[in-house]
Amino acid sequence: GGRIHIVGGGLAGSEAAWQAAEAGAEVVLHEMRPVRATEAHRTDGLAELVCSNSFRSDDAEANAVGLIHQEMRRLGSLVMREADRHKVPAGSALAVDRDGFSGAVTAAIAAHPRISILREEVAGLPPEDWGRTIIATGPLTSPALAEAIRDLTGEGELAFFDAIAPIVYRETIDMGVAWFQSRYDKAGPGGTGADYINCPLSREQYEAFVDALIAGEKTSFKEWEASTPYFDGCLPIEVMAERGPETLRWGPMKPVGLTNPHRPDERPYAVVQLRQDNALGTLFNLVGFQTKLKHGEQVRIFRTIPGLEHAEFARLGGLHRNTYINSPKLLDGTLRLKLRPDLRFAGQITGCEGYVESAAVGLMAGRFAAAEVLGRAVEPPPPTTAIGALINHITGGHIAAEPDEEVSAAKPRSFQPMNVNFGLFPPLERAPKSPDGRRLRGSEKALARKRALTDRARADLSRWLGEEPLPQAAE
Ligand code: FAD
Repeated sequence: GGRIHIVGGGLAGSEAAWQAAEAGAEVVLHEMRPVRATEAHRTDGLAELVCSNSFRSDDAEANAVGLIHQEMRRLGSLVMREADRHKVPAGSALAVDRDGFSGAVTAAIAAHPRISILREEVAGLPPEDWGRTIIATGPLTSPALAEAIRDLTGEGELAFFDAIAPIVYRETIDMGVAWFQSRYDKAGPGGTGADYINCPLSREQYEAFVDALIAGEKTSFKEWEASTPYFDGCLPIEVMAERGPETLRWGPMKPVGLTNPHRPDERPYAVVQLRQDNALGTLFNLVGFQTKLKHGEQVRIFRTIPGLEHAEFARLGGLHRNTYINSPKLLDGTLRLKLRPDLRFAGQITGCEGYVESAAVGLMAGRFAAAEVLGRAVEPPPPTTAIGALINHITGGHIAAEPDEEVSAAKPRSFQPMNVNFGLFPPLERAPKSPDGRRLRGSEKALARKRALTDRARADLSRWLGEEPLPQAAE
């Protein structure tokens, strides 16, 4: 019949339940709190905000997250309705009273005649006789369910951590010691062959550095983190150091393919590489240096790297529990697991990032599932809308991104959690011009481009909804 099970009553699961029920489906929502806690939630409310109370920019004309707010409002989002009702002053951002917000979402779901809430952990894969099921268990999916998903999808297809490497201000790197060069002078796409900043270490420096990493004070892994396996390719630097004195020299600190122009006769024993982190080229990250070292220890130890003695850090490294699947490979265009199409995924576990994005993916998952059980056509939103661009990114659609932005449709290998942003939108057919036909430049051009993208998104969403177009943004 027209029944859907939803696992997880967070931002995504709550929105999915609302959308499916409003569309006419019967919904059973399984939420494990308060029977079983997560490491971050503190209440038993649905749609609890675990950290900041901000839904970020509410500017629908020039900001991708503001645009997705507007699209969700047009799609009858419960999360946006209650966020608007529980808004607190935050300039052009949308911030909410977290308890009022979560309380109101919980009340609306509990009062819905077609939704029932079961307070229980789903401790393994949902059985096939549930029919259509949406898994929306978030970054802190309970271990029993996470392991069952990994067993089904395969070892490398479920990540447990987000790894963040430290970021340094470029102007604080001593270029009298460090130098620009790519390994073997290879120029990647758009690269020059000199894209990395390299810091050389002698044997003594390398050995002292490895010892310091091993001795350095770490933030303690909480019990739940210690028992979680690392995703390949994001081992903390100090864990690599512990595996043996040569491990780093064969890993992120390999000295091959590089020549130090300051000392051409002396081969460095090991090299730390930094990669450009922002378009302006003012920030560089230490490649492969994700770490659980305490922040003070990171500053102390990383400043022993030649060239970084006076480095100032824009952000220090970290490693956070974040459970997410390799969606571009595993999911079809309507968020169904290809291996078991009765299962859909929604929210942060699909590899989107943030409260708003999670709710947005939940919104579409709820609509898709409801359409399916009610025998209606399932049609994804156009990839030119913010919500469509996000779904397209997650499900691995290969729509080319704007050429001047780094982000492109996610390829399975490098799939990383992502906020909604204009880089996910298909490029404009024509560069925007000023009303008098002038060619635009600089920030004027960037703003005009954003407005053209958001105007196109509004028009395309209207068409998808079968509505009259909204009035265009004022010039
Ligand atoms: P959640 O909102 O986490 O909902 C998942 C729900 O599933 C939970 O209620 C959980 O109890 C339940 N659940 C889990 N396993 C099971 C199971 N087996 N059976 C039944 N129920 C289960 N995003 C921001 O935008 N801003 C921030 O400041 C921010 N800070 C964060 C801080 C932390 C520590 C973490 C972990 C994440 C943070 N995020 C932040 C990301 C944010 O959590 C997510 O974007 C958002 O909450 C994800 O929504 P979701 O619905 O996917 O997951």
